[in-house]
Amino acid sequence: MNFHEYQAKDLFAEYGVAVPKGIAASTIDEAVDAAKTIGGSQWMVKAQVQAGGRGKAGGIKLAKTLEEVASYTKNMLGMTITTYQTGGLALPVDKVLIAEATDIAKELYLSLLVDRQNKCVTIMASSEGGMDIEQVAHDTPSAIHTVQIDLLEGYQHFQGRKLGFAMGLNAKQTGQLCRMLEGLYRMFHALDLALVEVNPLVITPSGDLLALDAKINVDENALFRHPEIAAMRDERQEDPTEVEATRHNLNYVTLDGTIGCMVNGAGLAMATLDVIKLNGGEPANFLDVGGGATKERVTAAFKLILKSDKVRAILVNIFGGIVRCDLIADGIIAAVRDVGITIPVVVRLEGTNVEKGRELLSQSGFAIIPATDLNDAAKKVVAAAKG
Ligand code: GDP
Ligand code: MN
Repeated sequence: MNFHEYQAKDLFAEYGVAVPKGIAASTIDEAVDAAKTIGGSQWMVKAQVQAGGRGKAGGIKLAKTLEEVASYTKNMLGMTITTYQTGGLALPVDKVLIAEATDIAKELYLSLLVDRQNKCVTIMASSEGGMDIEQVAHDTPSAIHTVQIDLLEGYQHFQGRKLGFAMGLNAKQTGQLCRMLEGLYRMFHALDLALVEVNPLVITPSGDLLALDAKINVDENALFRHPEIAAMRDERQEDPTEVEATRHNLNYVTLDGTIGCMVNGAGLAMATLDVIKLNGGEPANFLDVGGGATKERVTAAFKLILKSDKVRAILVNIFGGIVRCDLIADGIIAAVRDVGITIPVVVRLEGTNVEKGRELLSQSGFAIIPATDLNDAAKKVVAAAKG
């Protein structure tokens, strides 16, 4: 689960991490009031969407008068933002963050993330901030510095000093970096985060460190421990189909291709995507209907797949281990009847009550294309999607 910048910055402040003064606003009046409360003579108006790259998309403006605060807010509220980080979605701007404008001497990069490979939390820091870190990693990998935090020992200040020296910070800034990392690590641990990213972390003209942007991501499996964090969820920033899938307890991820997939079991779903690709097709989604798939869930799953107008054909790949094939067949038939599917559906059923399942499908009167095994199914669905 992702957060808005204003939420992340409020959490930063709770953990003693320096951020510019800022107040979120949902209306023009609130924005102007926020600017007055913050004081000063210049403000940043920042569109609150859960993706980076807002600057280039017109979502970050410097306002030099209260009138400009009002007009930038007016433009941003109600607009949608699409950047390289939104995964094809146009994210609605329901709030803006009004922040004190900060003068920048230098932009740095700082992040903490769960490092599966090394079984620890890794801190990444770079003196090349404000830009896409993947690009920095590609062009100048030597500009990225990392330290690994031992999960039992926790963050230690020598690690912060190492990063400070590597980025060329002076003694005062290195001290500030250490305190900032101590707070960020405490937050990371306490809130079960998966990622914290500060891009840019800036050095102000007076030589102080300040987190100008803030991105956090929490491990959703730990959300039950943090109701106050779970309450910050903004479903309007998420893929509507994925939100709908969560309501039906379906494991669904939207992908770019044209072949809708309905599979039971995450491993089988991954294998199905692989075999589709191997046969020259592109999956439109990952969907695990789960081991205990019911008729209702299969129907819901079909409806989800059909929400995308990119889907040209559907592959149902079910292994009836826990779930019975005749139940699945019932679900497929109910869904086809309910939603009125006009695109080809290829079905590969295997397992408990498979004969009964196949019989139901062949007697249904719907043009369902039966497949004998996974490879056969993939070939047929790829051909159907192209035809
Ligand atoms: P993102 O593009 O969505 O990651 O949004 P950021 O919050 O990182 O802002 C993008 C860029 O806008 C930053 O890298 C800065 O260069 C600039 N920016 C943001 N806030 C301020 C500010 O208060 N003062 C100045 N001078 N520039 C800012
Ligand atoms: Mn940023």
